[in-house]
Amino acid sequence: MSNQVILDSPGLYNIGWIASLPTGRASATALLDERHGEPHGFSQHPCDTNSYTWGRMGKHNIVIASLEAGTSGTTSAATTASNMLSSLPHIKTGLLVGTGAGVARPDSGIDIRLGDVVVSKPDGSTGGVVQYDLMKAKLNSARERKDFLNKPPSVLLHALANIQAEHHIAESEVPELLEKMWAANPGMKKSTRAVPGFVHQGLENDLLFKAEYSHVGSQYCCKCDQTEVIQRDMRDSTDPEIHYGIIASGNTMIKDSAVRERILQDIGQECLCIEMEAAGVMNHFPCIIIKGICNYADSHKNDRWQPYASATAAAFAKELLRYVPRQGPIETQKVINASNSPTSSLFISRWPTMVYNKTSNSREEAQDIRRIKDNASRNVLDGETSEYLYHGESSYARVK
Ligand SMILES: [Zn+2]
Repeated sequence: MSNQVILDSPGLYNIGWIASLPTGRASATALLDERHGEPHGFSQHPCDTNSYTWGRMGKHNIVIASLEAGTSGTTSAATTASNMLSSLPHIKTGLLVGTGAGVARPDSGIDIRLGDVVVSKPDGSTGGVVQYDLMKAKLNSARERKDFLNKPPSVLLHALANIQAEHHIAESEVPELLEKMWAANPGMKKSTRAVPGFVHQGLENDLLFKAEYSHVGSQYCCKCDQTEVIQRDMRDSTDPEIHYGIIASGNTMIKDSAVRERILQDIGQECLCIEMEAAGVMNHFPCIIIKGICNYADSHKNDRWQPYASATAAAFAKELLRYVPRQGPIETQKVINASNSPTSSLFISRWPTMVYNKTSNSREEAQDIRRIKDNASRNVLDGETSEYLYHGESSYARVK
Protein backbone atom coordinates (compact mmCIF):
# COMPACT_ATOMS: atom_id res chain seq x y z
CA MET A 1 0.00 0.00 0.00
CA SER A 2 1.64 3.23 -1.11
CA ASN A 3 2.03 6.29 1.07
CA GLN A 4 0.89 4.35 4.11
CA VAL A 5 1.71 5.93 7.42
CA ILE A 6 4.13 3.85 9.45
CA LEU A 7 4.98 4.95 12.96
CA ASP A 8 8.39 4.51 14.49
CA SER A 9 7.46 2.28 17.37
CA PRO A 10 4.68 -0.08 18.52
CA GLY A 11 4.95 1.81 21.79
CA LEU A 12 3.10 4.67 20.12
CA TYR A 13 -0.11 2.59 20.18
CA ASN A 14 -1.76 2.87 23.57
CA ILE A 15 -5.30 1.62 22.88
CA GLY A 16 -5.99 -2.07 22.27
CA TRP A 17 -9.29 -2.75 20.51
CA ILE A 18 -10.68 -6.30 20.35
CA ALA A 19 -13.53 -6.88 17.92
CA SER A 20 -15.59 -9.98 18.57
CA LEU A 21 -16.84 -10.39 14.99
CA PRO A 22 -15.56 -9.61 11.48
CA THR A 23 -18.39 -7.07 11.14
CA GLY A 24 -17.10 -5.37 14.27
CA ARG A 25 -13.59 -5.33 12.93
CA ALA A 26 -14.85 -3.88 9.66
CA SER A 27 -16.65 -1.12 11.56
CA ALA A 28 -13.61 -0.30 13.68
CA THR A 29 -11.39 -0.19 10.61
CA ALA A 30 -13.85 1.95 8.67
CA LEU A 31 -14.03 4.41 11.57
CA LEU A 32 -10.26 4.93 11.66
CA ASP A 33 -9.24 8.47 10.83
CA GLU A 34 -5.97 7.18 9.45
CA ARG A 35 -4.90 3.65 8.65
CA HIS A 36 -1.30 2.72 9.36
CA GLY A 37 1.08 0.00 8.31
CA GLU A 38 2.77 -2.17 10.90
CA PRO A 39 5.01 0.08 12.98
CA HIS A 40 8.76 -0.10 12.76
CA GLY A 41 10.26 -2.28 15.42
CA PHE A 42 7.16 -4.39 15.99
CA SER A 43 8.11 -7.91 16.95
CA GLN A 44 5.11 -10.18 17.25
CA HIS A 45 5.48 -12.69 20.06
CA PRO A 46 6.04 -16.22 18.71
CA CYS A 47 2.89 -17.43 20.46
CA ASP A 48 0.76 -14.49 19.28
CA THR A 49 -1.42 -15.64 16.37
CA ASN A 50 -3.45 -12.42 16.17
CA SER A 51 -3.62 -10.43 12.96
CA TYR A 52 -3.46 -6.69 13.62
CA THR A 53 -4.83 -3.55 12.03
CA TRP A 54 -3.05 -0.33 13.01
CA GLY A 55 -4.34 3.19 12.80
CA ARG A 56 -5.33 6.46 14.38
CA MET A 57 -8.73 7.31 15.78
CA GLY A 58 -8.91 10.92 16.89
CA LYS A 59 -5.94 11.60 19.14
CA HIS A 60 -5.21 7.92 19.82
CA ASN A 61 -3.17 5.41 17.92
CA ILE A 62 -4.99 2.12 18.24
CA VAL A 63 -4.30 -1.48 17.38
CA ILE A 64 -7.21 -3.71 16.40
CA ALA A 65 -7.47 -7.49 16.67
CA SER A 66 -10.42 -9.85 16.42
CA LEU A 67 -11.32 -13.34 17.53
CA GLU A 68 -10.40 -16.24 15.27
CA ALA A 69 -12.86 -16.56 12.40
CA GLY A 70 -15.68 -18.88 13.28
CA THR A 71 -15.00 -18.86 17.01
CA SER A 72 -16.73 -17.20 19.92
CA GLY A 73 -16.86 -17.56 23.66
CA THR A 74 -14.88 -16.41 26.63
CA THR A 75 -11.84 -18.60 25.90
CA SER A 76 -11.42 -17.27 22.38
CA ALA A 77 -11.71 -13.70 23.65
CA ALA A 78 -9.21 -14.40 26.43
CA THR A 79 -6.74 -15.87 23.93
CA THR A 80 -7.00 -12.84 21.64
CA ALA A 81 -6.44 -10.46 24.55
CA SER A 82 -3.57 -12.50 25.93
CA ASN A 83 -1.92 -12.62 22.50
CA MET A 84 -2.20 -8.85 22.18
CA LEU A 85 -0.60 -8.25 25.56
CA SER A 86 2.21 -10.71 24.84
CA SER A 87 3.28 -8.62 21.84
CA LEU A 88 2.21 -5.21 23.17
CA PRO A 89 2.67 -5.43 26.94
CA HIS A 90 2.58 -1.65 27.36
CA ILE A 91 -1.14 -1.45 26.47
CA LYS A 92 -3.07 -0.45 29.57
CA THR A 93 -6.34 0.66 28.01
CA GLY A 94 -8.54 -1.69 26.03
CA LEU A 95 -11.93 -1.93 24.42
CA LEU A 96 -13.89 -5.10 23.76
CA VAL A 97 -16.41 -4.09 21.13
CA GLY A 98 -19.02 -6.34 19.59
CA THR A 99 -22.62 -7.42 19.69
CA GLY A 100 -24.88 -8.91 22.29
CA ALA A 101 -28.46 -9.63 23.19
CA GLY A 102 -30.59 -6.99 24.82
CA VAL A 103 -32.52 -7.83 27.98
CA ALA A 104 -35.37 -5.48 27.21
CA ARG A 105 -38.11 -4.84 29.75
CA PRO A 106 -40.08 -1.86 28.47
CA ASP A 107 -42.67 -2.24 31.25
CA SER A 108 -39.86 -1.62 33.76
CA GLY A 109 -38.37 1.29 31.85
CA ILE A 110 -35.57 -0.80 30.33
CA ASP A 111 -36.40 0.06 26.75
CA ILE A 112 -33.58 -1.43 24.71
CA ARG A 113 -33.99 -1.61 20.94
CA LEU A 114 -31.99 -3.38 18.24
CA GLY A 115 -29.02 -1.22 17.31
CA ASP A 116 -28.81 0.39 20.76
CA VAL A 117 -25.52 0.20 22.63
CA VAL A 118 -24.91 -1.27 26.09
CA VAL A 119 -21.76 -0.31 27.98
CA SER A 120 -20.47 -2.19 31.03
CA LYS A 121 -20.53 -0.04 34.12
CA PRO A 122 -19.77 -1.06 37.72
CA ASP A 123 -22.72 -0.92 40.10
CA GLY A 124 -20.99 -1.21 43.46
CA SER A 125 -21.30 -4.97 43.75
CA THR A 126 -19.85 -5.93 40.34
CA GLY A 127 -17.29 -4.52 37.95
CA GLY A 128 -19.88 -4.24 35.19
CA VAL A 129 -19.60 -7.80 33.86
CA VAL A 130 -21.00 -10.91 35.55
CA GLN A 131 -20.27 -14.46 34.44
CA TYR A 132 -23.73 -16.01 34.54
CA ASP A 133 -22.51 -19.60 34.10
CA LEU A 134 -20.25 -19.51 37.14
CA MET A 135 -22.76 -19.93 39.95
CA LYS A 136 -23.10 -21.84 43.18
CA ALA A 137 -26.30 -23.94 43.27
CA LYS A 138 -27.88 -23.70 46.70
CA LEU A 139 -30.86 -25.15 48.51
CA ASN A 140 -34.33 -24.60 47.05
CA SER A 141 -32.89 -23.83 43.59
CA ALA A 142 -31.28 -20.65 44.89
CA ARG A 143 -28.13 -19.60 43.03
CA GLU A 144 -25.25 -17.43 44.12
CA ARG A 145 -22.70 -15.66 41.93
CA LYS A 146 -19.14 -16.98 42.16
CA ASP A 147 -17.30 -14.79 39.72
CA PHE A 148 -14.88 -12.02 40.63
CA LEU A 149 -14.37 -9.99 37.52
CA ASN A 150 -12.43 -6.73 37.49
CA LYS A 151 -13.94 -3.38 36.71
CA PRO A 152 -12.63 -1.32 33.77
CA PRO A 153 -9.49 0.79 34.36
CA SER A 154 -10.02 4.15 36.02
CA VAL A 155 -9.08 6.10 32.93
CA LEU A 156 -12.03 4.56 31.07
CA LEU A 157 -14.45 4.99 33.96
CA HIS A 158 -13.54 8.68 34.17
CA ALA A 159 -14.11 8.95 30.43
CA LEU A 160 -17.45 7.18 30.88
CA ALA A 161 -18.52 9.65 33.56
CA ASN A 162 -17.55 12.50 31.27
CA ILE A 163 -19.40 11.22 28.22
CA GLN A 164 -22.51 10.49 30.30
CA ALA A 165 -22.43 14.05 31.54
CA GLU A 166 -22.01 15.38 28.00
CA HIS A 167 -24.97 13.36 26.81
CA HIS A 168 -27.14 15.18 29.34
CA ILE A 169 -26.21 18.33 27.46
CA ALA A 170 -25.92 17.22 23.85
CA GLU A 171 -26.83 14.27 21.68
CA SER A 172 -24.43 11.39 21.19
CA GLU A 173 -22.09 11.74 18.22
CA VAL A 174 -22.80 8.17 17.13
CA PRO A 175 -25.25 9.09 14.32
CA GLU A 176 -22.80 11.64 12.92
CA LEU A 177 -19.93 9.15 13.08
CA LEU A 178 -22.04 6.56 11.26
CA GLU A 179 -22.93 9.08 8.56
CA LYS A 180 -19.25 9.81 8.01
CA MET A 181 -18.45 6.11 7.93
CA TRP A 182 -21.12 5.47 5.29
CA ALA A 183 -20.01 8.47 3.25
CA ALA A 184 -16.43 7.20 3.19
CA ASN A 185 -17.47 3.58 2.62
CA PRO A 186 -20.72 3.57 0.61
CA GLY A 187 -20.66 -0.20 0.25
CA MET A 188 -21.36 -0.58 3.96
CA LYS A 189 -24.72 1.07 3.48
CA LYS A 190 -25.98 -1.41 0.88
CA SER A 191 -28.47 -3.78 2.39
CA THR A 192 -30.21 -6.74 0.82
CA ARG A 193 -32.30 -9.49 2.30
CA ALA A 194 -29.38 -11.89 1.92
CA VAL A 195 -26.64 -9.50 3.07
CA PRO A 196 -27.78 -6.90 5.56
CA GLY A 197 -25.73 -3.73 5.50
CA PHE A 198 -24.28 -1.72 8.36
CA VAL A 199 -27.49 0.31 8.52
CA HIS A 200 -30.68 0.32 10.59
CA GLN A 201 -32.80 -2.63 9.46
CA GLY A 202 -36.20 -1.01 9.84
CA LEU A 203 -38.63 -0.77 12.74
CA GLU A 204 -40.72 -3.55 11.18
CA ASN A 205 -37.80 -5.91 11.76
CA ASP A 206 -37.26 -4.94 15.39
CA LEU A 207 -39.83 -7.12 17.11
CA LEU A 208 -39.79 -7.88 20.81
CA PHE A 209 -42.11 -10.83 21.36
CA LYS A 210 -43.71 -11.83 24.62
CA ALA A 211 -41.38 -14.17 26.50
CA GLU A 212 -43.79 -17.10 26.30
CA TYR A 213 -44.23 -16.89 22.51
CA SER A 214 -41.85 -19.00 20.41
CA HIS A 215 -40.63 -18.42 16.90
CA VAL A 216 -42.48 -19.95 13.94
CA GLY A 217 -40.91 -20.71 10.57
CA SER A 218 -37.32 -20.41 9.40
CA GLN A 219 -34.94 -17.48 9.34
CA TYR A 220 -37.04 -14.38 9.90
CA CYS A 221 -40.31 -13.74 11.74
CA CYS A 222 -42.61 -13.56 8.66
CA LYS A 223 -44.81 -16.36 10.06
CA CYS A 224 -44.70 -15.24 13.70
CA ASP A 225 -47.93 -13.91 15.18
CA GLN A 226 -47.67 -10.12 15.25
CA THR A 227 -50.29 -9.93 18.01
CA GLU A 228 -47.66 -11.49 20.30
CA VAL A 229 -45.32 -8.51 19.82
CA ILE A 230 -44.88 -6.27 22.86
CA GLN A 231 -45.99 -2.76 21.92
CA ARG A 232 -43.38 -0.09 22.65
CA ASP A 233 -43.53 3.67 22.42
CA MET A 234 -42.36 5.22 19.18
CA ARG A 235 -39.03 6.98 19.44
CA ASP A 236 -38.32 10.33 17.82
CA SER A 237 -35.74 8.72 15.54
CA THR A 238 -34.01 5.45 14.85
CA ASP A 239 -30.74 6.79 16.25
CA PRO A 240 -29.26 4.35 18.77
CA GLU A 241 -29.59 5.02 22.47
CA ILE A 242 -26.80 4.27 24.93
CA HIS A 243 -27.46 2.20 28.06
CA TYR A 244 -25.06 1.72 30.96
CA GLY A 245 -25.24 -1.23 33.32
CA ILE A 246 -24.41 -4.86 33.89
CA ILE A 247 -23.49 -7.24 31.10
CA ALA A 248 -24.02 -10.96 31.67
CA SER A 249 -21.37 -13.08 30.00
CA GLY A 250 -21.02 -16.82 29.40
CA ASN A 251 -20.26 -19.47 26.82
CA THR A 252 -23.80 -20.23 25.70
CA MET A 253 -25.56 -18.63 22.77
CA ILE A 254 -28.96 -17.85 24.24
CA LYS A 255 -31.95 -18.33 21.91
CA ASP A 256 -34.53 -19.07 24.54
CA SER A 257 -36.47 -16.42 26.43
CA ALA A 258 -36.90 -18.78 29.40
CA VAL A 259 -33.12 -19.05 29.76
CA ARG A 260 -32.83 -15.29 29.33
CA GLU A 261 -35.31 -14.75 32.15
CA ARG A 262 -33.40 -17.15 34.39
CA ILE A 263 -30.17 -15.26 33.79
CA LEU A 264 -31.94 -12.01 34.58
CA GLN A 265 -33.21 -13.54 37.79
CA ASP A 266 -29.68 -14.64 38.73
CA ILE A 267 -27.91 -11.42 37.79
CA GLY A 268 -30.50 -8.87 38.90
CA GLN A 269 -32.43 -6.02 37.41
CA GLU A 270 -29.31 -4.09 36.39
CA CYS A 271 -28.59 -6.72 33.72
CA LEU A 272 -29.03 -5.12 30.29
CA CYS A 273 -27.20 -7.43 27.93
CA ILE A 274 -26.11 -11.06 27.50
CA GLU A 275 -23.02 -11.86 25.45
CA MET A 276 -20.22 -14.40 25.01
CA GLU A 277 -16.80 -12.78 25.38
CA ALA A 278 -16.49 -10.28 28.21
CA ALA A 279 -16.00 -12.73 31.07
CA GLY A 280 -12.89 -14.07 29.32
CA VAL A 281 -11.04 -10.77 29.31
CA MET A 282 -12.03 -8.70 32.34
CA ASN A 283 -9.42 -10.14 34.70
CA HIS A 284 -6.56 -10.07 32.19
CA PHE A 285 -7.15 -7.19 29.82
CA PRO A 286 -7.83 -3.70 31.25
CA CYS A 287 -10.89 -2.86 29.22
CA ILE A 288 -14.48 -1.75 29.01
CA ILE A 289 -17.19 -3.73 27.19
CA ILE A 290 -19.25 -2.04 24.48
CA LYS A 291 -21.99 -4.09 22.83
CA GLY A 292 -24.39 -3.27 20.03
CA ILE A 293 -27.72 -5.00 20.53
CA CYS A 294 -28.61 -7.35 17.67
CA ASN A 295 -31.23 -9.67 19.20
CA TYR A 296 -33.27 -10.28 22.34
CA ALA A 297 -31.84 -13.70 23.33
CA ASP A 298 -35.04 -15.46 22.32
CA SER A 299 -36.06 -17.99 19.66
CA HIS A 300 -36.64 -15.15 17.16
CA LYS A 301 -32.92 -14.39 17.09
CA ASN A 302 -31.32 -13.98 13.66
CA ASP A 303 -28.23 -12.24 12.29
CA ARG A 304 -29.97 -9.47 10.39
CA TRP A 305 -29.00 -6.71 12.83
CA GLN A 306 -25.45 -7.87 13.46
CA PRO A 307 -23.62 -5.50 11.05
CA TYR A 308 -25.57 -2.42 12.17
CA ALA A 309 -25.19 -3.28 15.86
CA SER A 310 -21.46 -3.81 15.27
CA ALA A 311 -21.28 -0.35 13.72
CA THR A 312 -23.20 1.46 16.46
CA ALA A 313 -21.01 -0.15 19.14
CA ALA A 314 -17.83 0.79 17.26
CA ALA A 315 -19.05 4.35 16.74
CA PHE A 316 -19.77 4.72 20.46
CA ALA A 317 -16.31 3.34 21.23
CA LYS A 318 -14.83 6.01 18.97
CA GLU A 319 -16.86 8.70 20.70
CA LEU A 320 -15.75 7.43 24.11
CA LEU A 321 -12.09 7.61 23.08
CA ARG A 322 -12.49 11.35 22.65
CA TYR A 323 -12.86 11.55 26.43
CA VAL A 324 -9.83 9.39 27.16
CA PRO A 325 -6.69 11.50 27.64
CA ARG A 326 -4.02 10.49 25.21
CA GLN A 327 -1.49 9.91 27.94
CA GLY A 328 -4.17 8.31 30.10
CA PRO A 329 -2.50 4.96 30.68
CA ILE A 330 0.86 6.64 31.25
CA GLU A 331 -0.13 8.11 34.56
CA THR A 332 3.33 9.18 35.64
CA GLN A 333 4.57 10.35 32.30
CA LYS A 334 6.39 13.65 32.35
CA VAL A 335 8.68 15.18 29.85
CA ILE A 336 11.79 17.17 30.46
CA ASN A 337 12.52 19.53 27.66
CA ALA A 338 16.23 19.69 27.08
CA SER A 339 15.72 22.28 24.42
CA ASN A 340 19.26 23.55 24.85
CA SER A 341 20.43 20.30 23.34
CA PRO A 342 20.34 20.37 19.55
CA THR A 343 19.36 16.73 19.27
CA SER A 344 17.52 15.55 22.29
CA SER A 345 14.96 15.99 25.01
CA LEU A 346 14.71 13.97 28.20
CA PHE A 347 11.64 12.04 29.24
CA ILE A 348 10.45 10.58 32.48
CA SER A 349 8.05 7.80 31.65
CA ARG A 350 6.82 4.60 33.23
CA TRP A 351 6.35 3.19 29.75
CA PRO A 352 8.46 3.86 26.70
CA THR A 353 5.39 4.98 24.79
CA MET A 354 5.83 8.45 23.48
CA VAL A 355 2.94 10.82 23.13
CA TYR A 356 4.48 12.44 20.13
CA ASN A 357 3.12 11.18 16.84
CA LYS A 358 5.17 12.71 14.11
CA THR A 359 2.54 11.96 11.48
CA SER A 360 -0.09 14.00 13.25
CA ASN A 361 0.43 17.69 13.16
CA SER A 362 -2.97 19.00 14.13
CA ARG A 363 -3.25 22.17 16.16
CA GLU A 364 -4.61 20.12 19.07
CA GLU A 365 -1.56 17.87 19.06
CA ALA A 366 0.84 20.75 18.71
CA GLN A 367 -0.78 22.27 21.80
CA ASP A 368 -0.41 18.94 23.62
CA ILE A 369 3.27 18.86 22.82
CA ARG A 370 3.80 22.46 23.93
CA ARG A 371 1.97 21.74 27.19
CA ILE A 372 4.07 18.65 27.84
CA LYS A 373 7.27 20.53 27.15
CA ASP A 374 6.18 23.40 29.39
CA ASN A 375 5.52 20.93 32.20
CA ALA A 376 8.85 19.34 31.50
CA SER A 377 10.65 22.61 31.90
CA ARG A 378 9.09 22.96 35.33
CA ASN A 379 10.20 19.43 36.18
CA VAL A 380 13.78 20.37 35.33
CA LEU A 381 13.53 23.33 37.68
CA ASP A 382 12.17 20.99 40.35
CA GLY A 383 15.22 18.81 39.93
CA GLU A 384 13.38 15.66 38.84
CA THR A 385 15.39 12.96 37.15
CA SER A 386 14.88 11.41 33.78
CA GLU A 387 14.57 7.89 32.47
CA TYR A 388 14.43 8.30 28.73
CA LEU A 389 16.50 10.21 26.28
CA TYR A 390 14.48 11.56 23.43
CA HIS A 391 15.97 11.70 19.97
CA GLY A 392 14.28 13.42 17.08
CA GLU A 393 10.51 13.22 16.83
CA SER A 394 9.50 9.81 18.11
CA SER A 395 12.40 7.63 19.13
CA TYR A 396 13.98 7.42 22.54
CA ALA A 397 16.66 5.67 24.53
CA ARG A 398 16.69 4.81 28.20
CA VAL A 399 19.29 6.74 30.13
CA LYS A 400 18.48 5.66 33.67
ZN1 LIG B 1 -40.05 -15.08 15.16
